Amino acid sequence: MLTGDGDSSVHREMLEAMPYGPNLMVEKVECKDHVLRNYCHKLTYLTKYTKFPVTSRNLLKQQIPRFRTVVDKAIKYRAAGNEPLNTRICMLKADAENSPLHIFGDHDHCDVYFCNGNKEEEINHIPELKSCGLFQEITKIICGSVSRHVSALIADQNNKLSELFNSIVNKHVTGMFQLS
Ligand SMILES: [Zn+2]
Repeated sequence: MLTGDGDSSVHREMLEAMPYGPNLMVEKVECKDHVLRNYCHKLTYLTKYTKFPVTSRNLLKQQIPRFRTVVDKAIKYRAAGNEPLNTRICMLKADAENSPLHIFGDHDHCDVYFCNGNKEEEINHIPELKSCGLFQEITKIICGSVSRHVSALIADQNNKLSELFNSIVNKHVTGMFQLS
């Protein structure tokens, strides 16, 4: 993994953390902004599915900026952690997948750095969102748009270097490995 500030220790850690061999290093390095923007676009698109009740869709619509903020907060926190890289990647994935529960009022699985539990008079909207199926769709979007990129997001990179790295990788390995 190439990082924007030329941090070779992250690169070394990534090499050491490859349980399935070096082919996984060909994974695209995603710029954080790009991933989060794409994530919010998909959530916004979900608010337009009229098969879900308008009240639930409005709940989601109001909270979309928070979806971005909480994942960004988790990336920053896990990027700076002292745990081994693989552990931090798993923790970031768990944080991202817990984030809709946190946003809609269920704090049972929130890490202590993340929040202080239930706020006064906060309503837990999770049962309502689960019963109409919207919660399950949100979870699918998180898995497809955030969870699959956690190994890149953990580097907390937000600049053109990740794009440059991708273009170099594409040039040199296209045809040798399947790029995702
Ligand atoms: Zn919480």
